Amino acid sequence: MATKTQLEESRRSAKRAVYREVVPAGEPWIRVIHRGQFFRIVDLEGNQAADTLFYNAHDYSDRYSAQDTIRAQQNVYLTTGTRLISSGGNVLLTIVADTCGRHDTLGGACATESNMVRYAIEKRYMHACRQSFVKAAIQWGRGLSKRDLTSNINFFMNVVVTPEGGLTFEDGVSGPGKYVEMRAEMDVLAIISNCPQLNNPCNGYNPTPVEVLIWDPGSNPGADDV
Ligand SMILES: [Zn+2]
Repeated sequence: MATKTQLEESRRSAKRAVYREVVPAGEPWIRVIHRGQFFRIVDLEGNQAADTLFYNAHDYSDRYSAQDTIRAQQNVYLTTGTRLISSGGNVLLTIVADTCGRHDTLGGACATESNMVRYAIEKRYMHACRQSFVKAAIQWGRGLSKRDLTSNINFFMNVVVTPEGGLTFEDGVSGPGKYVEMRAEMDVLAIISNCPQLNNPCNGYNPTPVEVLIWDPGSNPGADDV
């Protein structure tokens, strides 16, 4: 069972990664991560939210489920040791390293509609995560569509549950270079919306880039069983 904060560093070297890409602030990213590969997201400048969706790469109806993940680990925060569970009860990925210590899966992704309701009517025209998810899904094609955009993870985002059960968007606990790393337990399609939000502190009111790295199993001998 994952505790509230479980800091764990990875021994994998960035030099051995088979894939590295910087996702600019406000932009989407989509790619398949194969079973056994390791997948790291780096908060390059700190205090940035990476809204992320995961799917069984062979069946998009089997996708990340916040409800099943929370129930399986009996904790609402995601950190080292968390198994990310799909709606079909499969383990998509396991978090194997985490230098931030807290990731949210309750707050959802920002949308033009929620920006308007939460902040002001003119915020409707600001770019939002949901649009980035739709853009990535359309570009990907292969049957993936708007209807597949369900519960997501907000890596590096600090959404605190109060003793009364309320949700509050707090200042981030992440910092420059902090990262979260996962092992894919099956072939997984990942979509990231590098959140463009400017109306709450999830990005420190200043969206910044994140970096994505992927390692093959065994690409860093002696360190793959972290
Ligand atoms: Zn967002």
